Amino acid sequence: KPVIIIVVGMAGSGKTTFLHQLVYHTQASNIRGYVLNLDPAVMTLPFGANIDIRDTVRYKEVMKQFNLGPNGGILTSLNLFATKFNEVISVIEKRADQLDYVLVDTPGQIEIFTWSASGSIITEAFASTFPTVIAYVVDTPRAVKPVTFMSNMLYACSILYKTRLPLVLTFNKTDVTEHKFALEWMEDFEKFQAAIASDSSYSATLSRSLSLALDEFYRNLHSVGVSALSGAGMDAFFKVIDASANEFIDTYKADLDKRW
Ligand code: GDP
Ligand code: MG
Repeated sequence: KPVIIIVVGMAGSGKTTFLHQLVYHTQASNIRGYVLNLDPAVMTLPFGANIDIRDTVRYKEVMKQFNLGPNGGILTSLNLFATKFNEVISVIEKRADQLDYVLVDTPGQIEIFTWSASGSIITEAFASTFPTVIAYVVDTPRAVKPVTFMSNMLYACSILYKTRLPLVLTFNKTDVTEHKFALEWMEDFEKFQAAIASDSSYSATLSRSLSLALDEFYRNLHSVGVSALSGAGMDAFFKVIDASANEFIDTYKADLDKRW
């Protein structure tokens, strides 16, 4: 059975560029990938998608028809697509023997996928049929700011607990900034506290307290550094994905079966 990789992350973190790199890497390494685009508002995709939400739902028409703004248009498009998602699952099931991974791009604004009913429907439809892993993409150069780092970790944490799927922190743009600092902050909260020590703002004080609470959460995560631009870290990424897929089969699947 193929492993589903759902790529999420804040707008501009590099999801689409990363997906492009994943597609390139799979093709170059004889890995059999299948690509799904769930962003109805993307203008041009740098890669060919096997299934594209834009073939089914016209985002601009949806905005006009329901008198919506951009975010409402994206959300409604995703809702419309979610109602047909069983068809997507059966298309993938028919090809299951010929596929290693299904790569899924999600809308630019992270909350549209992670905090919507349709996002949950799509995620659960995948997870009930195939081993499913979340790749949470982090904009590493931006995360050197402790407060930005903490926002990302909180977001990843909420996704982990909401989906209950294995989550891979994918530190992107390592061609600009190495992710070593982030690993150190996760390993040793005192290092994070030291980095934020000079900042007495409210959000810094909050981040300081949260770093203690997140200690347990960090232990449940996998991390990997990549560059969507240069292609660095792709082999390491797939290794972590495979380990997470095994984890899904060993523990998460049993948990999911209990929930349903
Ligand atoms: P998305 O909104 O998460 O889909 O992000 P995009 O893939 O559109 O990328 C946002 C911006 O980050 C673009 O200008 C990309 O060229 C840039 N970008 C993405 N990945 C990398 C990377 O690995 N290194 C560098 N230097 N820039 C990147
Ligand atoms: Mg994108």
